[in-house]
Amino acid sequence: MGIAPFSYIQFRRTCGSGTKSSGEILTPLSSRFALVVLRLPDCHGIQCNCRRVIFFFVFSHLYRPTRLLLFDIHSRSSPPCSTMIPVTTPATRDPTLLVHGGAWAIPADAAAAHESGVRAALEAGYAILSLGGSALDAVQAAVTVLEDDPTFDAGRGSFLTSDGRVQLDALLMDGGRMKAGGVACVERLRNPIQAARLVLEESPHVYFVAEGAERFAAAHGMALIDNADLVLPRERDRLAQAQARQSAGLADETFSGQILRDDKDPETAALSNESRGKSANSTTHAEGLPPSAKDHDTVGAVALDGHGNLAAATSTGGTLNKTPGRVGDSSLIGCGCYADNLAAAVSLTGWGEPIMKLVLGKWATDRVAAGSAPEIAAREAISYLYNRLGGHGGIILLGPDGRFGLAHNTPAMAWGIATPGGLQTGLTI
Ligand code: ASP
Repeated sequence: MGIAPFSYIQFRRTCGSGTKSSGEILTPLSSRFALVVLRLPDCHGIQCNCRRVIFFFVFSHLYRPTRLLLFDIHSRSSPPCSTMIPVTTPATRDPTLLVHGGAWAIPADAAAAHESGVRAALEAGYAILSLGGSALDAVQAAVTVLEDDPTFDAGRGSFLTSDGRVQLDALLMDGGRMKAGGVACVERLRNPIQAARLVLEESPHVYFVAEGAERFAAAHGMALIDNADLVLPRERDRLAQAQARQSAGLADETFSGQILRDDKDPETAALSNESRGKSANSTTHAEGLPPSAKDHDTVGAVALDGHGNLAAATSTGGTLNKTPGRVGDSSLIGCGCYADNLAAAVSLTGWGEPIMKLVLGKWATDRVAAGSAPEIAAREAISYLYNRLGGHGGIILLGPDGRFGLAHNTPAMAWGIATPGGLQTGLTI
């Protein structure tokens, strides 16, 4: 009995020495023959002399869904590796990927860059899913693309702290293994989402901050850069304007919860955009909005892979002019990011303080677990955010059956979705 065609399968493996490792890729060469590339992150060739990377071939007629004999390469002195046990099943479902690039008053001159950035992230993430790759790899790849794009408030090009530095937060969560990895207040990492993945895979801990996070990432091979490499002149100007507003006594509104009267109800936010002639593409949207509703450009992704696993990732430079050391919702488990195969995967963007107080990501996934459709739960989450604490933001929510919801009560939210049917992007829901 074989699987045809082969698909990506993760294995958990115990060497003869007792060393455990996982994270393998089965690459189909044809419907009957596959190349297995086995990486041994925990083995290091120390205890059992396993090679760090092993290539071998498998024929589909020898494959059993529950157990695969491993023809391993060992030095003569080491005990042989025994078996590899699949921990995921062959791909059986249509994968889905959703991404967002922040919910705020996206100005007209930034609209095209937001949509093309979101599209590039979808393409990178969906390329992994369509080859049978994992939801976790897909969300990491999508968010890496968005961090690398200076359009967004993540990675290079992020908003600046009040002292003119970039401080980044990111979280990644695997809903199949219920593993999470997060970093906050990092200043010397180009891609904090990759550091979050290292935390998830390589540490018994879940969350690292500041210098400790940077040291951990560096110890696991990530380059440390100069903070100035993450700072754009555009952001220096934006900070100067924000601080001028602050001096004029206007900046308290950032966290005060005051909001525009005409943008109150998330149920009508899209309508109100319509009635303004799709003015999400208009700078007039920014006028009159408090800073809390203007400056949200965090990025995030949620995915369902062909094996039925969910994952979520969120990455941010936080809010404009934030006090150094401030951490928002984005990288906190259950606030700006959460994934559980038994519930849903979620990524949020918006004014972080209200989102944190409501633990809004978990609130939304709990509703899906309790039977709500994600499209309803997403709208309810944004209504709850506004009605309870006057918060502004946006959400992408994906259920284990592939149903999804998107909602925002800001003038715009850059979003995109990829399914086997194709890619779609937009700036309002
Ligand atoms: N939620 C982020 C924060 O408060 C900001 C954003 O979404 O743009 O740090």
